[in-house]
Amino acid sequence: MNFMQAKMFSPIDLHMHSLASDGTMTPHDLVQRVHDSGVQVMALTDHDNTAGLAEAGEKAAELGVQLIPGVEVSSEWETQGIHIVGLFVDPENAVLQEGLAKIMAFRDWRATEISRLLEVAGVSGAEAGARAMAGSRMVGRSHFGRWLVRAGHCADASEAFGKYLGRGCPAYVPSDWIPMTEAVHWINSAGGSAILAHPGRYKLSASRLRTLLTSFREAGGVGLEVCSGSQAAGDREHLGRLARELGLLGSVGSDFHGPDIGHAAIGQLLPLPDGVEPVWARAGIQLH
Ligand code: AMP
Ligand code: MN
Ligand code: MN
Ligand code: MN
Repeated sequence: MNFMQAKMFSPIDLHMHSLASDGTMTPHDLVQRVHDSGVQVMALTDHDNTAGLAEAGEKAAELGVQLIPGVEVSSEWETQGIHIVGLFVDPENAVLQEGLAKIMAFRDWRATEISRLLEVAGVSGAEAGARAMAGSRMVGRSHFGRWLVRAGHCADASEAFGKYLGRGCPAYVPSDWIPMTEAVHWINSAGGSAILAHPGRYKLSASRLRTLLTSFREAGGVGLEVCSGSQAAGDREHLGRLARELGLLGSVGSDFHGPDIGHAAIGQLLPLPDGVEPVWARAGIQLH
């Protein structure tokens, strides 16, 4: 029996965000930070766009970090918002880019709608504020959250989501994201591997999660994040069992958004449980 404590550091981290979506670091600075933290293999997985990949690729080549091109697609399954991480995607692929453009257009429309609802709730100027925080890039609820804090309406992002932006709150826009199967199709069209992101975050019962994963696999999904940043105790073992039983691959990803955002840190991840085949093994990636 092995009594050694599993180490809370992984040389591979396949889920993180840059300024191209709702991260707070440029792709350049993010890759530098990845390198400095000792991670050898990273995936940049911005929400619904791949605009940060070129800059990240240049810096990764300079530093000797292996960059896997990725994206995190916002989708839904039976009214539940579901995030699908695509790894090893070809960012030039037309099916993927046309699909992502639809989501980006929806996000743009939704930003105006969130702002209108905030105005009704007594908060003015949110659209300009959130768009200024996002620059010309993807605008999401995180940007509204950060603006609400900066403008003094909320103490922190968690309050902003709890009071205004979260599901059921006054500025929540019921989002009609694309079906989960469509996200998988785009990723597969781009030669990628579709991974169910942070399965613990959907608050599904064990049997619902199994049903979701079964549909996901039928649609062409190949794996799930067995180890993610700030997951509940026991999730890793439960998700590892599901991966083995359903013949799905395992991925690991912190979901890092920035040093000042949340608790996730680059590479602060437990290893995959025994018997779970890593998604990166298929790509011939060896870790030293
Ligand atoms: P969106 O995709 O624009 O609907 O925004 C979802 C993003 O908001 C997630 O990817 C997180 O980065 C962030 N987020 C979601 N819930 C919270 C929360 N309770 N507190 C802070 N950030 C959150
Ligand atoms: Mn995010
Ligand atoms: Mn996500
Ligand atoms: Mn993410």
